[in-house]
Amino acid sequence: MSGMKTDLKLIDENGKRIDGRGFDELRPIKIEAGVLERADGSAYIEWGGNKIIAAVYGPREVYPKHMQDPSKAVLRARYNMAAFSVDERKKPGPDRRSIELSMVISNALSSVVFLEQFPRTAIDVFIEVLQADAGTRIAGLTAASVALADAGIPMKDLIVGCAAGKVENTIVLDLNKEEDNFGQADLPVAIIPRTKDVVLFQMDGDMTQEEIDKAMDMAINAAMKIYDLQKDALKRKYFSIVQEDEQ
Ligand code: UDP
Repeated sequence: MSGMKTDLKLIDENGKRIDGRGFDELRPIKIEAGVLERADGSAYIEWGGNKIIAAVYGPREVYPKHMQDPSKAVLRARYNMAAFSVDERKKPGPDRRSIELSMVISNALSSVVFLEQFPRTAIDVFIEVLQADAGTRIAGLTAASVALADAGIPMKDLIVGCAAGKVENTIVLDLNKEEDNFGQADLPVAIIPRTKDVVLFQMDGDMTQEEIDKAMDMAINAAMKIYDLQKDALKRKYFSIVQEDEQ
């Protein structure tokens, strides 16, 4: 979010965005559950130009041992961008951004998993961004919660999110890469859909309180639609297993 002056016109005279979307239109989203054989649970999401895999392992023994918690499981999410996921090669390994995103994603997921049912164990969640096009923290978190459910880990609900932001003084839903780079603000939000509790809220750029309220409303409405896609992905996976069993 540079807010940089640019000649690039992000919204045209007909109110269309650079990729042809209207203000409150999502990019196309596809979610698939159970895509990895060796993980306990997994999911793949395509969200606009983002391609992200989430893999869940556990509950399992904790290494290093001193990280054990005798009262509950520790949920550790690791967000990672592949070197080839962005235009300029991303230096491999954790950086400040990915450490921060891993932490906020871990916190969000911990709010729905019944961690106290698995004391002294670890639940590891790996989020691998294969192709990035803005909105990866939310897309990764959305896939990760499907992967946790696919692993059969008891949860209150899924977690789902969306971002909204400000581009050319207009509040728009689900910013793409150009809008994220050259727009004025980006506000990723994630919720527990059943209660609408907000479990991730961040803001990059400047918005007034009124603009924030509008962006939040837009993002939460869209998140509820993405929740349906998450549930469909899980149903498809389990329906196909039942069909296999019946053969
Ligand atoms: N990005 C990049 N290189 C980086 C980090 C990010 O090219 O090292 C791009 C990538 O497309 C990412 C976007 O910038 O999706 C926006 O990044 P941000 O930190 O806002 O997180 P995100 O929107 O992906 O959650």
